[in-house]
Amino acid sequence: MKFGGLEKITLIDYPGKIACMVYTIGCNFRCPYCHNPELVDETVVDTISERKVLEFLDGRRAMLDAVVVTGGEPTMHGEALLCFLKKVKARGFLVKLDSNGTNPEILKRAIDGKLVDYVAMDIKSPMSKYAQVVARPVDVAAIRASIELLISSPVEYEFRTTVIKALCSPEDIDEIGREIRGARRYFLQKFVPTKLLNPQFLKKVTYSDAEFEAFRKKMNTYVTYCGIR
Ligand code: SF4
Repeated sequence: MKFGGLEKITLIDYPGKIACMVYTIGCNFRCPYCHNPELVDETVVDTISERKVLEFLDGRRAMLDAVVVTGGEPTMHGEALLCFLKKVKARGFLVKLDSNGTNPEILKRAIDGKLVDYVAMDIKSPMSKYAQVVARPVDVAAIRASIELLISSPVEYEFRTTVIKALCSPEDIDEIGREIRGARRYFLQKFVPTKLLNPQFLKKVTYSDAEFEAFRKKMNTYVTYCGIR
């Protein structure tokens, strides 16, 4: 595999762990608020080989607990991703995988093969609005299968939604709650307009703190824990 970036240390991307983060190239969605347009459009200039990433990890075994694999959409890399995860696990690291949930088969193989310790899956919108929000055709049955897989799995996981007023109404948040009912952890993420795939979204806003708090209370009726980021 080739990667589009390597963040040498992060204290916030794997709960409670010191991690590094690698970015896979390519995505099957085009979320307008995406912070990684060069990964999604596959225009990364300075790619990093898998060998370089593994060499970096070999030199950091004493310092890092975990590797976060994010993107882009990592599961698009299929067998190559599983092969990379095996090499990371063989070096003794915990692995967190970020995914948009479009490939439940690869997610299942990663979980069953004990190649991941934590999965963070985006819930972009209620199923009824998915294609509109991610600007691509979507197999919502696959998204649903990934949700069910994680809810019934022993692996640690979280669901999370980036909330933008223009894309996500209070009713949408409630519908998301019903669709992930029974989940252990869910995070409402405040939209922060920085570098975005669709620059027109730089002017979009999210809800107030008080509104987020009301959403959190409502979501806590569907999930065990709902946090705000
Ligand atoms: S936010 Fe995630 S799923 Fe959406 S386009 Fe960006 S990398 Fe893909």
